[in-house]
Amino acid sequence: MSSAIYKDLVERDGAVLWHPYSAAPAPISPYAVKSASGTRLTLHDGRQLIDGMSSWWAVIHGYNHPVLNAAMSAQLEEMAHVMFGGLTHEPAILLAEKLLAITPPGLAKVFFCDSGSVAVEVAIKMAVQYWFSLGKPAKKRLLTIRQGYHGDTFATMSVCDPVNGMHHLFSDLVMPQVFAEAPQIPFDGVWDECEIDEIKELVETRHQELAAIILEPIVQGAGGMRFYHPQYLSRVRDLCDEYDLLLIADEIATGFGRTGELFACNHASVTPDILCLGKALTGGYMSFAATLCKGFVSEVISQKGPGILMHGPTFMANPMACAVSLASIGLLENSPWRESVAEIEGLLKAGLEPCRELSGVKDVRVLGAIGVVETKTPVDVKRVQELVVARGVWLRPFANLCYTMPPFVAGAGEVKQITSAICSAFS
Ligand SMILES: *Cc1c(COP(=O)(O)O)cnc(C)c1O
Repeated sequence: MSSAIYKDLVERDGAVLWHPYSAAPAPISPYAVKSASGTRLTLHDGRQLIDGMSSWWAVIHGYNHPVLNAAMSAQLEEMAHVMFGGLTHEPAILLAEKLLAITPPGLAKVFFCDSGSVAVEVAIKMAVQYWFSLGKPAKKRLLTIRQGYHGDTFATMSVCDPVNGMHHLFSDLVMPQVFAEAPQIPFDGVWDECEIDEIKELVETRHQELAAIILEPIVQGAGGMRFYHPQYLSRVRDLCDEYDLLLIADEIATGFGRTGELFACNHASVTPDILCLGKALTGGYMSFAATLCKGFVSEVISQKGPGILMHGPTFMANPMACAVSLASIGLLENSPWRESVAEIEGLLKAGLEPCRELSGVKDVRVLGAIGVVETKTPVDVKRVQELVVARGVWLRPFANLCYTMPPFVAGAGEVKQITSAICSAFS
């Protein structure tokens, strides 16, 4: 019976839906989820899978969490939504105060929006408007590093890796930006000052046309799952100070403990001028994001012509999203997340290490609650998914990468189940 429902849903999906980065219908049929609780997804045919992806970095506390459910229900009784133009509400004020208290020191203002991509759009607008207001409209380009990922809208696409982001497809449509090679020294490698030679030269020669440097601090996510040396981030901060560029840190994937620090910028004790948050902000409950900036950025934009930030989404600061974000941060603060992430890190290291010996594997790397197996050739996604699903695990590999970032509440047995599923899939 339930497997008939399952088949029916998958077929109807194929008739009407697009999926992320996919043809329609999707060449690999999606798995139909009926419900989710804790670390587990329950499929319509009764199969249960441990979510090794945390629904793309977001579900740090697990699904269907009583505290997050209660926060949303309570907010629903008050109001589901109200426009933010000319109105305000306590959930937004409390969340902004909380975010400013926990993010790297020096940030002063919070702009709420709908999704990570929009948060990066807003960050780019802030940077461009900042220089416009200062009478330097030529400073409008962005410098970034290759293998980055910042979202799918056009401005964000322009700073994604040009190859992964298929810039050739949109050649006249994406703004031309300035790219430095991706950092090569790994997170725990030996620092060598040569690492910044190229980006330093780009800044020296082109700073008059640059508004900002934008990057994902420490962890490059969807553009390659790479972990780079904290000294690189701190030297980029120095370059921005020296040449008067804004630094935009995109912590949409890394924020809220994932890398072992509450924010990845903390690995280098760096405060960016503009910070983007999303994904785990709501504990994975809904689409929501925030762009934070230092006081001097908001002051310049607000006090000099045109005097306003040109952005204002309809669902800005949605009260349900604010309420569940506050509850999620509360859960994090009241949990031993640092120990949980460190324990997951140890289990991922131990569990994925055997993969290193496999002939198809190029590299194995782990940082915080992120485990990555990089293969020499593109992963056969359908085959690997079938193998890990048969072992009760959900993963979504892409390109040459099979990776996992489990919910922080995953138990040791569950993390081991994930790593052994990955190892067996590549054996
Ligand atoms: C996911 C992601 C985004 C885009 O967020 P969406 O909510 O998917 O628009 C931007 N930057 C980084 C680093 C991300 O991981």
